[in-house]
Amino acid sequence: MKFDNSFITELKQQLPQYLRNLHGNKIKSDRGDFMQLLCPYHEEKTASFNLNIKEGKPLFKCYGCGRGGDIISCAKLDANTDNFPDAVKYACGVLSITCPEPTKPQTKEEREELNRKLAENRKAQAQRDKEKAVTQKRVKHLQEQLPKILNSYKNEYWREELHAELLSFNDDPELDAHAFIAGLFPDQSTIWCGDVKDSGSEKHSKHFRPANEWREIIESRKYIPARICPSTFQSGIHHRSKDFALDWKYICIEGDELIGHKATTVEEQEENKHLNYCLAKFCREVLGMKLVAVIDTGGKSLHLWFVMPPSEDFNLLCQIADGIGVDTATLTNPVAPLRLPNCIHNKTKKRASLLMFNPPIAEPFFQ
Ligand SMILES: [Zn+2]
Repeated sequence: MKFDNSFITELKQQLPQYLRNLHGNKIKSDRGDFMQLLCPYHEEKTASFNLNIKEGKPLFKCYGCGRGGDIISCAKLDANTDNFPDAVKYACGVLSITCPEPTKPQTKEEREELNRKLAENRKAQAQRDKEKAVTQKRVKHLQEQLPKILNSYKNEYWREELHAELLSFNDDPELDAHAFIAGLFPDQSTIWCGDVKDSGSEKHSKHFRPANEWREIIESRKYIPARICPSTFQSGIHHRSKDFALDWKYICIEGDELIGHKATTVEEQEENKHLNYCLAKFCREVLGMKLVAVIDTGGKSLHLWFVMPPSEDFNLLCQIADGIGVDTATLTNPVAPLRLPNCIHNKTKKRASLLMFNPPIAEPFFQ
C-alpha cells in the first residue's frame, strides 16, 4: 500500500499543527517554525523537545530521550504503532483531515514499467549533466579568453567602421528615434515608449501604442520619448511588465565594465566603448548573432542591439556575460527601458546617438 508522494510531503509540513492539536498543553514556546515542548515521550520538568524547520521540513528532536523525526515518527509513537499507513491515518485524525486511500500494490508489470521509466530518467539526467559540463567548459574557456579576443579586435577606426553601417532615411538626427522604431518593429505591433517611470497606472496606457503611431508622434515632434523596450506588448495595457510582453525581439548588450571596473575618466569611457565595439564584433563573428544597432548612450558604454538569438545561444551568452563586465540585468530583461537615440543622458547631459543601424525590417523607409 502506498500513499501519493505529494500528499505525504504536504502531511509532513503539518508537524507544528499536529503538536499543537495533540500536545498543546506541553508547549512551552511556539514561534511558528520553532517550538519547545515538554517531551510527550518521556517524563521531564524542563522542555527538551524541540521542533525546527530543516531544509524546509519540520523535524523534532528530544535532547532528553533522544527521539526524533518527522510527523510520521510522532504519529507512530503517539499511536503506538510501527505501521506506516496506520501512522498516516492517525496523523490525519489529529489534524482533522481526510486520509486518502493508499494506492493498490503494484503488479510485476507496473513495477517493471516504473523501473524502466526511472532508468530512462536517470539516463536523460546523465545526458543533461554531460551537456551542462560541456557548456560550462566552453563558458569558462570563453570567459578566460575573452579579454585577449576582444583586444585582438581593437581597431582605431572602429567608429568609422560602425558608421559605414549607419543606414538612416533622413539627415535629421532628431528623427533617429523614428528611424529606430521603423527599422525594428512592425507597424501594428504595440510597443512601449516613454520615460522610466511611465508605467503602472492607467494614465500610462498612452505609452503603449502601435509602432506606426509612435512614428507619427515623433515625426510631428510633439513628443520625443526617451526610452523604449526591446519587446512588443499586448495592447490595451498600462504596465510595462514581463507578464504583458508578447514577443522579445531584441536583446541589448551593455558592457558597462569591460575595462574591468567602472569607467570614470573620459579616456576610460572611450576605452570601454572601444571594447564594446570589440564585443559586438565577437558576438557577430564567433557567436553568429545579428547586430542591428549600436547606440552611444552618451555615458560610459554602448548599447549593442541584437536580434534575439535561439534560446541555447542566448543561455550561453548570459553565462559568458556574467563575470566579464556586461550588465546582465539589462541583458536578461525583456522589458528594460532602453535609451532611444537622441535622448539626453541625465548625468552627462549628452545625447544618445546611433553609431550603427542595420535594421531587419522597414526597407520602405530606407530608400
Ligand atoms: Zn523525550
